[in-house]
Amino acid sequence: MSNQELIALAEKYVAPTYGRYPVALVRGEGCRVWDADGKEYLDFVSGIAVCNLGHCHPGVTEAIRKQAGEIVHVSNLYHIEPQIELARRLCENSFADKAFFCNSGTEACEAAIKLARKYSYKKHGEGRNEILTFDMSFHGRTMASLSATAQEKFHKGFSPLLPGFRHIPFNDVESAAAAVSEKTCAIMVEPIQGEGGIRIPSEGYLKELREICDANDLLLMFDEVQVGMGRTGKLWAYEHFGVEPDVMALAKALGGGTAIGAIVATDKAMAFEPGDHAATFGGNYLATAAGCAAIDATLAPGFLDHVAEMGEFAQAGLRELATRHPIIKDVRGKGLIIGCEIDGDAASIVPKALEAGFLLLAAVGTVIRLIPPLMVEKEMIGQLIEFLDGALKDMAE
Ligand SMILES: *Cc1c(COP(=O)(O)O)cnc(C)c1O
Repeated sequence: MSNQELIALAEKYVAPTYGRYPVALVRGEGCRVWDADGKEYLDFVSGIAVCNLGHCHPGVTEAIRKQAGEIVHVSNLYHIEPQIELARRLCENSFADKAFFCNSGTEACEAAIKLARKYSYKKHGEGRNEILTFDMSFHGRTMASLSATAQEKFHKGFSPLLPGFRHIPFNDVESAAAAVSEKTCAIMVEPIQGEGGIRIPSEGYLKELREICDANDLLLMFDEVQVGMGRTGKLWAYEHFGVEPDVMALAKALGGGTAIGAIVATDKAMAFEPGDHAATFGGNYLATAAGCAAIDATLAPGFLDHVAEMGEFAQAGLRELATRHPIIKDVRGKGLIIGCEIDGDAASIVPKALEAGFLLLAAVGTVIRLIPPLMVEKEMIGQLIEFLDGALKDMAE
């Protein structure tokens, strides 16, 4: 079917929860995708930080093929080899001791929220259940994650939100310290805010949150759903900041493109007991086999160095653009999550990029967000920058 035929069917049958661009992407390889009419695009979206290894990565594809021919799903009432293997890889390569698997980012955040309450309940009894979250955060769309998310545009029409969350300014230690009360049980924070506009905390901020948590027996919970799995040039974003959380939420790139979510936690924080929490599909054979292949590829020698190098190359290119385009207000990022803030409507560039053969994304109104597959090459980044050069010039005129 053509783009037009698919769009007509989608309008008839698919719920209009997304403002979709007028193409159906039907095939991908590495950093390139093709639409139903055969047009080629360079991908700077990665399915929103999911396809960190690009499309149809040979290791991931082979793992999925092999697993699909053996067994796809059994209940978590039984032991699941690739789930154990993925849990081991996550723990051996992070601060954590134990992993719990679910199916998405919002579910991972829900699990973190429940875990924080259970941890506090076991140690301190009833009534200590409030979690501090941050302005412009994003934790997902189900009710608790949505209530944790401090962006009003996502709340409108869905009240009442759940109690037990307190939203405070990001990157402001004093307000975090002041917000802690006898009701507080945890702080949940993205080490780098993704949907909120690629906002990076200042030096020392996350460490100070760590100190506040230690002083009050709060769990420090990092939402690395978007920035984990190599996106920032290190396996986990927190490694840039010299601080470890008690709990970390993961999803997006964790399954090499398959649907997966997880929380990992220290033994001390892992307060769940049998029956406390569950997910039917969580950590099933297919997703965790793909996840093992994905993390192995991410940890292959030199891979993360490439991410850091490409990130610097892209930021340097954007900074050079900024010298000629006063419309660019800021360029920021770590590794291959980069925000280019403009004095204008960033979203208006996205359809133009599509037209020109680039998948591109905005984050909040004014930030162009670059989150390409991590194997992106200089030449591809150069092509995007050339496009932006023209598009920003048109925009300023
Ligand atoms: C995308 C995202 C989520 C939600 O993930 P879903 O899989 O869409 O539920 C949660 N937290 C962060 C930081 C995200 O970027």
